Amino acid sequence: MDLYEYQGKELFRRFGIPVSEGRLATTPAEARAAAEELGGPVVVKAQVLTGGRGKAGGIKLADGPEDAEGKAEEILGLDINGHVVRKLWIEQASEIDREYYLSITFDRGAKQSLFMLTTEGGVEIEEVAENNPDALSRLHVDPLEGFQPYQARRLIYGAGISDPDEQKQILDIVGKLYTCFVETDAMLCEINPLIVTPGGEVRALDSKFTVDDNALYKHPDIAEMRDLEAYPAEERAARERGVTYVKLDGDVGILGNGAGLVMSTLDVIALVGGRPANFCDLGGGGDAQGVVDALEIITADPQVKSILFNIFAGITRCDVVAQGILQALSQTTIEHPIVVRFDGTNAEEGREILAEAAPPNLHVESTMLDAARRAVELAA
Ligand code: GDP
Ligand code: MN
Repeated sequence: MDLYEYQGKELFRRFGIPVSEGRLATTPAEARAAAEELGGPVVVKAQVLTGGRGKAGGIKLADGPEDAEGKAEEILGLDINGHVVRKLWIEQASEIDREYYLSITFDRGAKQSLFMLTTEGGVEIEEVAENNPDALSRLHVDPLEGFQPYQARRLIYGAGISDPDEQKQILDIVGKLYTCFVETDAMLCEINPLIVTPGGEVRALDSKFTVDDNALYKHPDIAEMRDLEAYPAEERAARERGVTYVKLDGDVGILGNGAGLVMSTLDVIALVGGRPANFCDLGGGGDAQGVVDALEIITADPQVKSILFNIFAGITRCDVVAQGILQALSQTTIEHPIVVRFDGTNAEEGREILAEAAPPNLHVESTMLDAARRAVELAA
């Protein structure tokens, strides 16, 4: 899960990493009020889950409340790489002497986490890595050994930072960032720029923060930061009902139980010349209500022309899924042709239940390949 800048900074603050004082605003009037509270010049920052906001006109300095209101008006509603700005972070403006870059992420090849630090911050890090790789200081941290302060010294010397006072502050930030990264189960914590003010103070001016989705159950406070409005309406509806749903752009709606099976179903659809409309995973449960929910989500997509149910039942039982399908058909009018392939636990019982009720738009096939062929035919 990606966090907004202001959320990442909130976590930075919790772990003692210095950030500027700021307020959230969703209207120009709120931006004005925030600037009044903060006092002095502020920076008005678009909160979107994408980078390069500065270049796109999503970051603007304002000399006071009135200016902040005007800048807010300009930035709200702006489209930045397909993300429409609905929220602003109003922050006390910083004076900047130098812009550095500091991040920690996983180096999967090395099976260790990796710090990167360079004094050439502010710009895109990929450029630095390509044009001036020597400027990028790297440090691996062994997860079993844990982080050792002497390692951070090497990282800092490697980046060519020689001012002792700066070294001391960055040493402290590096240690805290490591704790923050580990304790929040983050996959990326990036500070670009990490600034040095004319007074010699080091501070995080931006945050890019990604938390491992699979660890969110351990962090209810972070899980709550998820902004549902940032997702397409049907993905939001699916999430609320506990159905995994990813929109694709073909015309065959796919429903399966288990991500592996769903992915192979997508492949088989492609193999027989079709195009999947979505990726929809019922998970291990597959109870009647789950089937009803998933069918409602799938049929809400106007691109869907046919639906393929691919169930390989282990814990799930095909007779329960069959009842779910019938229940869904009785609750909502679904005109789409539905192709069903059952295998595994109670597959025979499931097929019998469907054969007995025999809804006109239901087609039962006994193999995955046949079912895919039929679904693609019916979508044409
Ligand atoms: P990004 O473009 O999405 O990475 O957004 P950043 O938060 O990194 O801001 C982009 C650039 O705006 C920074 O590199 C700074 O040069 C500038 N900037 C951001 N905040 C301030 C501030 O408080 N004062 C000044 N002078 N410049 C700022
Ligand atoms: Mn940045």
